[in-house]
This record gives sequence, structure tokens and C-alpha cells, in this order.
Amino acid sequence: MEDECFECGACCKLFLIDLTKAEYQSKKYKTQFMEFGLISDFDLAQECGANIIEQDTDESCIYLKDGKCSIHKIRPEACREFFCSSKEDRFKGMIELIKKTKNDQKSG
Ligand code: SF4
Repeated sequence: MEDECFECGACCKLFLIDLTKAEYQSKKYKTQFMEFGLISDFDLAQECGANIIEQDTDESCIYLKDGKCSIHKIRPEACREFFCSSKEDRFKGMIELIKKTKNDQKSG
């Protein structure tokens, strides 16, 4: 069951999405602080979090609509790479947090 998406939207509610340089500079995505304009130095943009996708008032990704990604076809690389069924070490902590959140929701 590796690399399978259950379309639960849990990751879209829990994690901040960092855009790559190309994604950020494409201006295709709504990002934090975009009202101040694009920062041409990407390292600086990363430092201040300007390459992070904007969040909704409930802190979920701005593109999560009715529990689904509204930009699925052009979703950022970070979203394409992550699967909560992944066995990759780099995702371990994120997967544990998703499981913990789901368990808390069930028991709470
Ligand atoms: S862009 Fe889509 S897949 Fe990525 S976090 Fe937002 S809603 Fe989820």
C-alpha cells in the first residue's frame, strides 16, 4: 500500500506547503504575504516564509475545498511527493502526526 492517497485531506490541514523556487516565481499559487509582492531573492523569500502557501482561517491550505484539493492537477511538488502510506524516513514524523490527529479526533 505504498504511495497511495486516501484523499482524506488530513495532510492539507496539518502542514505548511513550501513552494519550490520555480513554483514561487511562477506566481500561480497564493502565498503568505503576497500582498507585498514577489521577493526576487528566493533564499530571502524562504527565510521569511513568503514561499509558503496561504492558509485558510482554520489553518488548512487555502486550496482545500470540501475536503479535496481544488488545484489537484497543478498541486505543488511538496504535495505530489508526500503520501501518508510512504515508507520514506523523511515523512515519518509527518505520518505519525497525521495518525495522532486522526486518533485524537476519533476519541475526542
Ligand atoms: S495544494 Fe492541494 S494537495 Fe497541496 S496542501 Fe493544498 S489542498 Fe492539499
